[in-house]
Amino acid sequence: RLSISPLRKINNTINTYAQAKNREIETLQKNAEFRREFIADISHELKTPIFAAQGYIHTLLDGAVEDKSVRLKFLKRAAKSLNALDKLVQDLLTLNQMESGVIKFNFEAFDLKELIHEVIEELEQKAAKRDVLIRFFYDKGKSYKTIADKDKIFRVCQNLISNAIKYNHDGGEVEVHLKTHKNYILVEVKDNGKGIPPEDLKRIFERFYRVEKSRSREGGGTGLGLAIVKHILEGHKSKISVSSTLGKGSIFSFELPCEKPAKEASLKI
Ligand code: ADP
Repeated sequence: RLSISPLRKINNTINTYAQAKNREIETLQKNAEFRREFIADISHELKTPIFAAQGYIHTLLDGAVEDKSVRLKFLKRAAKSLNALDKLVQDLLTLNQMESGVIKFNFEAFDLKELIHEVIEELEQKAAKRDVLIRFFYDKGKSYKTIADKDKIFRVCQNLISNAIKYNHDGGEVEVHLKTHKNYILVEVKDNGKGIPPEDLKRIFERFYRVEKSRSREGGGTGLGLAIVKHILEGHKSKISVSSTLGKGSIFSFELPCEKPAKEASLKI
């Protein structure tokens, strides 16, 4: 005959096992739900440019092709939709590779100030179209050398500055600030655009989350940019911060380490 105590032990073991199994089932259910949602989101996002391109091509085939001016306009629009589709697929692949950890980070020393100059140069035309002025502030006497994955940090800066232009009003301003404190370089991207409502602020780093869908798509957005930014910075053990005031603008910022000067290999005697 078993005494009460061993019976209780068996009972406890069974309960613990059942609880662990329940948790496992819950996790599996959550994963399945996440996958379902992800596939639904992707399908929806893919359909938008596909439907648009199909629409233009079918209209051309139905006779619009005879009209020279319409032909060119519709072909250009179809090409624009296909470019958007291509960008979306590229971004999805990048995000997928990052989430599954297969993407490699190539760390090297480079000057963050020079990299930001390059990004601004690339985006100047886009800014000029909206009459947006980009201003870059840093201390000329200071070094902004860091060790990071240069291409990926280029992408981070490109995304933040491009958003600051895209979600600004015509004639608005974008300020990029480089600051050093302790062993870190702080990058700040400020805009005086429309800002982000507080209830959306936490969610803008989620894939496909947009405050205004139409504005994002018009500006060539995939809704994946900030999710990619977040992953890249996590790969650098850094994180993205945001503060925003509705109607006034937003500030996105992140930090990277200063490159430490190499120590003297040996002491001269
Ligand atoms: P998108 O491709 O839509 O620009 P992002 O992931 O880069 O995707 O940004 C997600 C959403 O966050 C955007 O759709 C926009 O609503 C909001 N957002 C991002 N940056 C800004 C900004 N500087 N000002 C206002 N809203 C912004």
